[in-house]
Amino acid sequence: MGRKFFVGGNWKCNGTIDEVKKIVNLLNDGKVPSQDCVEVVVSPPYVFLPLVKSSLRPDFHVAAQNCWVKKGGAFTGEVSAEMLKNLEVPWVILGHSERRALLGETNEFVGDKVAYALSQGLKVIACVGETLEQREAGSTVDVVAAQTKAIAEKVKDWTNIVLAYEPVWAIGTGKVASPAQAQEVHCELRKWLHANTSPEVAAKTRIIYGGSVNGANSKELAGQPDLDGFLVGGASLKPEFIDIINAAE
Ligand code: PGA
Repeated sequence: MGRKFFVGGNWKCNGTIDEVKKIVNLLNDGKVPSQDCVEVVVSPPYVFLPLVKSSLRPDFHVAAQNCWVKKGGAFTGEVSAEMLKNLEVPWVILGHSERRALLGETNEFVGDKVAYALSQGLKVIACVGETLEQREAGSTVDVVAAQTKAIAEKVKDWTNIVLAYEPVWAIGTGKVASPAQAQEVHCELRKWLHANTSPEVAAKTRIIYGGSVNGANSKELAGQPDLDGFLVGGASLKPEFIDIINAAE
């Protein structure tokens, strides 16, 4: 199968310089499987990227939490993919549900962002996921398929994309998807990729789960056949992030 386990830590809009240094120390001291077995990427706020990048152990990498949809210029407050590349930040998270919901990022806009970031040589953690209302209405698969389609329409090469399934109702709520619920959607996403991109993309693309992942629930989730890792919010700021990385084994 050959899909290396992937664990992302999304720090969101949290942290002071001192807190960031503490988290980095914790990560640097953590005993985790080798890079051949698990890929670890942490995503601090933009302003802390240089600090984290310069002090983080070399087997872990960094991601930005967003970037602009096209070449930089007169876009006050934005950070461009070129700038991230220039800072040697290898990864970027795009389409997180908080940005979709709070900042009105549409499927098309996210698709454009993913395509542009890839064109600049960044690797992308692309997020999809349904709200509670959508799940209760039975439209989970339609929603995540539409979000994925908006990316697939703009992108042919999926080598540098990790797809993060993050049900909105599970994010920051303590309500984790059951292993069976997660597996079901991951399997549907893989089938969608198989039918709409290529069998190779479906087999190789890592589909990771996000939404109230913690040290206690990560092991069982990691055992699901179509679950290739995690995008972790709250618990990525705590010592249990190390346990989550170890769920890979
Ligand atoms: P959570 O966040 O782990 O705090 O639920 C996950 C995410 O938003 O990526």
